[in-house]
Amino acid sequence: MSRPAGEQEMKQEPLQDRNDTREPLLVAEGVCKDFQTTKRQTVHAVSDVSLTIFQGETLALVGESGCGKSTLGRTLLHLLPATKGKIFFRGQEITGMTEKEFRTVRRKMQMVFQDPYASLNPRMTVRDIIAEPLETYHVCGSKEETTKEVLNLMSMVGVPGEFLNRYPHQFSGGQRQRIGIARAIALRPELLVCDEPVSALDVSVQSQVLNLLKKLKQELNLTSLFIGHDLSVINFVADRVCVMFLGRICEVAEKDELYERPLHPYTKFLLAAIPIADPHQRNDDRSLLEGEIPSPVNPPSGCYFHTRCPYATDLCRREKPEMKDYGNGHMAACHRCEELQNTEI
Ligand code: SF4
Repeated sequence: MSRPAGEQEMKQEPLQDRNDTREPLLVAEGVCKDFQTTKRQTVHAVSDVSLTIFQGETLALVGESGCGKSTLGRTLLHLLPATKGKIFFRGQEITGMTEKEFRTVRRKMQMVFQDPYASLNPRMTVRDIIAEPLETYHVCGSKEETTKEVLNLMSMVGVPGEFLNRYPHQFSGGQRQRIGIARAIALRPELLVCDEPVSALDVSVQSQVLNLLKKLKQELNLTSLFIGHDLSVINFVADRVCVMFLGRICEVAEKDELYERPLHPYTKFLLAAIPIADPHQRNDDRSLLEGEIPSPVNPPSGCYFHTRCPYATDLCRREKPEMKDYGNGHMAACHRCEELQNTEI
């Protein structure tokens, strides 16, 4: 199925406050990522996404499972080719680059994967896993120097050096994720995409890994795109938050602004769904989002959220809401944002 009428020709501006003086590191303009199924259907995983990641910030990408956030992260990193749109890294367009052309940029953009069990080669020792990118890019002059740097990286992520020749199955989930992080920072990247890096870990280990990511961000002056669905985790790590629904961005704001003054009904539902541990503060009457995410093979017309939104009107069903700036870089795509501003879910 082709994209809904009117979408092809729409040109969305990158999500950046025009008065913002921060330096953009990565800019995406109208990025789409489609997949073909074996039944010749088209899955619109990412639709017309424009965003800017500023140097030094942690931008969180949040949304329900299946909303396209991991696909977007991989497309921005050139691990998947974009179907449409442009991606710029430090002002240089990287969409359409061949692997050979992209090689110098690749080392500046690295990824921490979600599953620390599946992302490490079980046949390689920790030394060889972390050394692989160093050897691929000929960073060190000799095998001894490479091993020394691997030990340095292990120390940075809190894995004891005596485990150098152990295999992934000999580590706990948290330690494996630390090894994955050591490998991701080995080339001293500028941009680190963290794809749900703690969602497969025990809660007690999650905070340790999040603290490690925060510490490394400071020490290495990293810029991060943090993909997640847990708003408590996002609250801990993010500077700005980008909310995604069915492959589209529906709201972007500074973290505190978004948590205190959400504009888009979908964001309000997500925030209302955060579990509160204190029984005295719990609000069991809050509304929870109902229904399933619509199919990305056949997305709804107009606002993709209209099939689940209690405030939907005919206009919502007919016309795609464009991103609008509501001040201080707080942007949302909803026809009724302003009139619903003070409506609590
Ligand atoms: Fe709901 Fe309409 Fe806003 Fe979409 S545009 S979120 S359907 S009110």
